[in-house]
Amino acid sequence: MARTNTLGVTPQSEDFSAWYNELVLKAELADRGPVRGTMIIRPYGYRIWELIQGELDRRIKATGHENAYFPLFIPEGHLRREAEHVDGFAPELAVVTHAGGKELDEPLIVRPTSETVIGEAFARWIDSYRDLPLLMNQWANVVRWELRTRLFLRTTEFLWQEGHTAHASAEEAAAEVLTAVGFYEELVRDCAAMSVIIGDKTPGERFAGADRTVSLEAMMRDGRALQTGTSHDLGTNFSRAFDITFTSAEGVVELCHTTSWGMSTRLIGGIIMAHGDDRGLVLPPRLAPYQVVIVPIGRGDDLAGVLDAAASLAARLQEVGVRVKVDDREQLSPGFKFNEWELRGVPVRLELGPRDLAAGTVTLAARLAEEKEQVRLADIAAEMPDRLTAFQDALLERSRRFRLEHTRNVDTWDELVEAVSTGFANALHCADPACEDRIKEATTATPRCVPFDAPDEQGPCAACGKPSAYGRRVVFARAY
Ligand SMILES: [Zn+2]
Repeated sequence: MARTNTLGVTPQSEDFSAWYNELVLKAELADRGPVRGTMIIRPYGYRIWELIQGELDRRIKATGHENAYFPLFIPEGHLRREAEHVDGFAPELAVVTHAGGKELDEPLIVRPTSETVIGEAFARWIDSYRDLPLLMNQWANVVRWELRTRLFLRTTEFLWQEGHTAHASAEEAAAEVLTAVGFYEELVRDCAAMSVIIGDKTPGERFAGADRTVSLEAMMRDGRALQTGTSHDLGTNFSRAFDITFTSAEGVVELCHTTSWGMSTRLIGGIIMAHGDDRGLVLPPRLAPYQVVIVPIGRGDDLAGVLDAAASLAARLQEVGVRVKVDDREQLSPGFKFNEWELRGVPVRLELGPRDLAAGTVTLAARLAEEKEQVRLADIAAEMPDRLTAFQDALLERSRRFRLEHTRNVDTWDELVEAVSTGFANALHCADPACEDRIKEATTATPRCVPFDAPDEQGPCAACGKPSAYGRRVVFARAY
């Protein structure tokens, strides 16, 4: 198989979109599938997903949720039971009409999300208040027939987890929504090193069938927003549609309050766009398939000694819990390997040659640093965990600074239009859908969320001058 040997990508500053598309392919994260809009996740990209899964799954289970698996196919009639839900998803549904060589009596929907199939099962499993809360999660693929697709960001099939819970009271369901937000906040901040804004979606941006949607919004390096997780309070909407009831301690039959929450492979697209630069990816150490790559340098008789030293260094790094790879491919020059691992975003590269060995040193190139440094070969393994932590912290801090530098409070139409062309605009807003539409038409920006931590504020809508409706500023941005 031919391997590309031109590693450069279009500079991010020149064409962000071309930079992204080329990078996903050249870094070997993903490839296009044979059906338009589908995605092959290659081993390097899938390893990132596995690391995300591991971090999130641990948090989900630690709070009493259990994993289960529900079917891919949903009878069409199931989806119709919740009217808003089916309206919201209808344009994106893939429908199976034939199977086993004949037309089906009832068409089957390939799940776009699983509220309906899980709701139907919950109705059978829940009898009394003793069965509550019911806390479940599934790792699965879902299908949404998108017209405009992009690897990781918008694909017709993607991987995700979806949590589904049922509770006896509205208060418990409301608390659950925030518990899930907490998982995502930790994952995105502590593992993906992305600084996010957390808040309520405005009514027009909520999940179809939800009373409340909370989202986490990160800023990409082109100033656009990417939603990195959502958590929905479904109230009693799905309970009513699917008859999810319980008998209370007092013997009264009541509707359950349900929630759902999800995070998907889009997060990988977010990591690429939140941290990458002109040279390629910059991966946060906590989610990097290889945190350290060792490139042995040498020819002839020297090479054997260098390879031995590289293997022993790799073993010492593994002992302290570092994910490490020795790049001993013979046919490629060290210079090519340096460029390739930079493009693939490896946090730390160690270059080891005969001269380093003689001096007891190794050359260290950190992906965020301009200069290489010489470090002591005997000490570097023990130092590496701290160095990776410092790298992780620096990346998060850079993300936070970038977001703050590209966020403005705006009070007029002109300020709003200008601010969303480069980043986030915090604006007082009237909540009128017509006003939202006008903003969207002029700028393509939409309300991302009403941040929890924004101070109370009242005044005229920045776009139309009518009184503000949310008591706080709303974040507007162009979004992926
Ligand atoms: Zn307005």
